[in-house]
Amino acid sequence: MQKKSDLRPSSSSGLTLIIGQGISGTFLSYYLQKNNSSFIVIDESKPNTASKAASGIINPVTGRRIVKTWMIDELMGFAKNAYQEIGKQLTIDCITETKIIDFFPTPQMRNAFLERFEDDKTFLQLPADENDQRHFFKYDFGYGKIEPVFLIDINDLLSSYRKKLKEEKVLLEEKFDINELQVSDSKIQYKNITADRIIFCDGIESFSNPYFKNLPFAPNKGEALIVEIEGFPDELIYKKGMNIVPLKNNLFWVGSSYEWEFENDQPNKIFRERTELILLDWLKVPFKIVDHISSVRPATLERRPFVGFHPVKKNVGILNGMGTKGCSLAPFFARQLTENIIHQSPIHREADITRFAGIFRRSER
Ligand SMILES: Cc1cc2nc3c(=O)[nH]c(=O)nc-3n(C[C@H](O)[C@H](O)[C@H](O)COP(=O)(O)OP(=O)(O)OC[C@H]3O[C@@H](n4cnc5c(N)ncnc54)[C@H](O)[C@@H]3O)c2cc1C
Repeated sequence: MQKKSDLRPSSSSGLTLIIGQGISGTFLSYYLQKNNSSFIVIDESKPNTASKAASGIINPVTGRRIVKTWMIDELMGFAKNAYQEIGKQLTIDCITETKIIDFFPTPQMRNAFLERFEDDKTFLQLPADENDQRHFFKYDFGYGKIEPVFLIDINDLLSSYRKKLKEEKVLLEEKFDINELQVSDSKIQYKNITADRIIFCDGIESFSNPYFKNLPFAPNKGEALIVEIEGFPDELIYKKGMNIVPLKNNLFWVGSSYEWEFENDQPNKIFRERTELILLDWLKVPFKIVDHISSVRPATLERRPFVGFHPVKKNVGILNGMGTKGCSLAPFFARQLTENIIHQSPIHREADITRFAGIFRRSER
């Protein structure tokens, strides 16, 4: 545990206080440091954050109609460089290029894939032999391939980056208490830290933050099983409603659910039972469930992130609302926010929170 007196900002320029070291806070501090701008990160080490529960897939297509996801052409290339760069700095390999073997669960889904393939083949492929997956899988309607897809080793990235923040004495491992925050036009005061700005990268906690709680967040719970499958192929991602994603040492992440209504963020036995049945029906090989994880995605009603500064409290900012796509959105918008801080360059208009100016005027702070 870092003591506050040990904290050492990384340069002498204006200081940014970052709340949260999920994928958003990690990349924001990374880009600030790259631009010689000082920061301190406050993060309590919670076990079931969205970033820690994520499988780490960057999938360029989505939905029943298999359409390209928002901004994906720009985001894919950016993400590839960003993860390679940060991995190099940390001496880890945190990005792998792979493909998704997309088993069609119904004849309708097969038709949808084939129609999309006729229209636009970017990211889509058809196999030379549709029967070549029968050794491990039971399937009735064939499959298509999605490629390239990136797989991020997000837990390795977060823990390696955390170690670096600690070594550089810029991490405070404690629960941030908003009641201790004082915001004036010229500075931010948090306990004994005086900063130029504060940026909330605190995931679902921002939903109750007095500065940002009126933004249209739409929390979404997701669960996954960690299963052990001896001798199972570990280079590709397999999908049939659920994804099977390779981890390490014969372990696989299997998920996920998307729940808009839920009582708590804890694993629910209904998900475990349902997923076990899906696997029994899909796999020809035995598997063992070794863990069950869950978290809440910081999603937003219009499926766009929340990036930028409060229009009234101009030194209070946010990098959040990454929803189901934190792995591709967080690096890109962390860099945009850094450039906004340093060069006042604009933030993408669909992500910039000033689009909610009316909501901020009506809110109490
Ligand atoms: C089951 C599941 C699977 C997913 N799979 C994928 C996927 O394959 N690909 C993808 O792109 N996205 C995926 N996502 C979505 C992705 O996880 C999120 O978009 C992303 O992790 C959000 O990151 P974040 O840094 O904004 O928030 P978080 O990861 O929630 O990080 C917030 C951080 O703030 C800290 N914090 C909060 N409040 C405080 C406080 N008061 N004091 C101190 N620290 C605080 C927390 O400890 C945490 O470290 C998945 C999500 C789930 C739940």
